Amino acid sequence: MSQANKALFIIFGGTGDLAKRKLYPSIYRLYKKGYIEENFAVIGTARREWSDEHYQEVVQDSIKGIAESEEHAEQFSRHFHYQSHNVKDTEHYDTLKNLADSLDDQFDIGGNRIFYLSMSPTFFGTITKHLRSQKLVTDSGFNRVIIEKPFGTDYESSKALNDEILEAFESDQLYRIDHYLGKEMVQNILTFRFANPMIESIWNNQFISNIQITLSEELGVEERAEYYDKSGALRDMIQNHVMQIVSLLTMDAPASLNTDEVRKQKMKVMSALKVLSPEEAEQSFVRGQYTRSADGKVAGYREEEKVADDSKTETYVAGKLDIENDRWSGVPVYVRTGKKLTKKEAQINIVFKKPDNPLYQAENTAANVVTMYLGPREGITLELNEKKIGPGMNIEKMQLDHLRTEGTIQESPEAYEKLILDCLSGDRTHFAHWEEVAASWKYVDAIRTAWNQSSSEPAFYPAGTIGPKEADELLNKDGNEWIWNPDK
Ligand code: NAD
Repeated sequence: MSQANKALFIIFGGTGDLAKRKLYPSIYRLYKKGYIEENFAVIGTARREWSDEHYQEVVQDSIKGIAESEEHAEQFSRHFHYQSHNVKDTEHYDTLKNLADSLDDQFDIGGNRIFYLSMSPTFFGTITKHLRSQKLVTDSGFNRVIIEKPFGTDYESSKALNDEILEAFESDQLYRIDHYLGKEMVQNILTFRFANPMIESIWNNQFISNIQITLSEELGVEERAEYYDKSGALRDMIQNHVMQIVSLLTMDAPASLNTDEVRKQKMKVMSALKVLSPEEAEQSFVRGQYTRSADGKVAGYREEEKVADDSKTETYVAGKLDIENDRWSGVPVYVRTGKKLTKKEAQINIVFKKPDNPLYQAENTAANVVTMYLGPREGITLELNEKKIGPGMNIEKMQLDHLRTEGTIQESPEAYEKLILDCLSGDRTHFAHWEEVAASWKYVDAIRTAWNQSSSEPAFYPAGTIGPKEADELLNKDGNEWIWNPDK
C-alpha cells in the first residue's frame, strides 16, 4: 500500500503571485518525488471568476521547466479545482465545503486538510473563523493552517491576530511560514554546530569576537511598493528571517531535535536579547534608503510608483544585537539587510578572536572566520592562518572552501517544498512559533518606536552599492569591520 501523504489543500489566494511562483511548483515537486500520489487535491480560491480548466492551465504553466513531461503536468493539474470566493461572504464557505467534501470522496483523502492562507493577514481571522463555523474543519483527519508572513505589523497587532486565529484552531494546528527556516543551509546551522564537537566547543564568547549576518538583495521593491512602504526592512526582514537566524546561531543545544526542545532553546536565547531603549536604538541601529544609482540608470526608492516623495521607509537596516547570557555576553551580533545592494547573497560570518600570545601577535595574523553561505551560493568556508612558504616563520591567510556545486543546489529541495512536506507530516520544528514571533516583535518594536520619534532622514545610499557608510561606522566604532565582501 502507498505510504504517500493524503491531503486536500485549500489555498486562499490561489490566483496570487506566491501561489504561482512557489506553491504550485513545490506541490508538483512533492508529487514528482512520490510524497503525494493519487490521494490529494487542491482547491484554489480567490475573488476572480476562473474555470477549473483555466486554473489547471495556470498550474501547468507554473510548473513549466520542472515538469517531467506535458502529460505528467496535465495529470498533476487534474487534481486542481477552482472556486471563486470572497473570504468575507459566509455563503461562499458553504459552497467551498460542498466542493471540499466531494473532492475528499473522489480522491479518497480521509478528511486531511491543509488550509493555506496566502493572502493579506487582514483576512486571516475572518477565514479561520468561517472555516470553523461553516464546518470546513473535519473530524476524520488532520486540519492544519499554514500562514504566510507578515504576522502582524507589531507586537499588539500580531497578538490580536494570534488570539483571533486561536478562537478557531489549536496552536499546534498552526504552521507560520518563515521560508528561511526551510532553507537547506539554515537547517544546516544546527547540524554544523551540534554534530561537530570541534565547532560547538568554541561557539561562545571565549573564542568568538563577533557574529555578522547579511541578507543582501539586488532587487528593489518591484510590484510590492504599496505593501513595502508601510512595512520597511525592519518588519519585512529583521523581525522574522534575521531573528530566526540569530536564534539558531546562538541557542544552546536542545535535548533532542524535536519541535518542543528546539523551540525551548530558541526561546531561551531570545529572552536574553537586550531590548533597546530609544537612545540605544539610535546608537545601535542604522536605517537606510536607496537613492538613484551613480550612473543614473536605476531609480531611487522615493521615485518608485506608489511611494511618497518624502517617504522615510527604510530599504536597509544594519544593527547590533546584544545577548545577555553567560555564553554570549560581550559578543555583538551585527545584522544587516537591504534592497538594491550589489548582489543577492545571504551569508553568516562567525569572526573568531585573534591569538595574542608570544608566538603570533594579533596584528600579524588574520582572524579565523567561519562563513556560511545560505543562498544563492550554498556552503561553508573557513579562513585560517598558515606558514608562508619560504624563509622565516611568516604567516599568511589560507581558506578552506566547501561550496556546493550548482548541480547539487539545483537538486536540493526548495524551502517551500520542504515546509509543505513538514506540514503534511505534522512536523512544526521549522515553523515560527508564537512565542518566538512575540519576542521578536517586542525587540523590533523598540527600534521602530525610536525611529518614529526621530525627525532624522534615513541614511541614503546609491542603488547598486553595499549600503550606507553609517552602517560601516557602526562596526568601525567597535573596532570591527564587515567581513562580507560582495566582490569575492
Ligand atoms: P497577491 O496580491 O499576488 O495575491 C493575493 C491573493 O488574494 C489573490 O489571489 C487575490 O485574488 C486574493 N484576494 C484578495 N482579496 C480577496 C478577497 N476579499 N477574497 C478572496 N480572495 C482575495 O499576493 P501574494 O504575493 O501572492 O502574497 C500572498 C501572501 O503571501 C501575502 O500575505 C504576502 O505578504 C505573503 N508573501 C508573499 C511573498 C511573495 O513572494 N509573493 C513572499 C512572502 C510572503
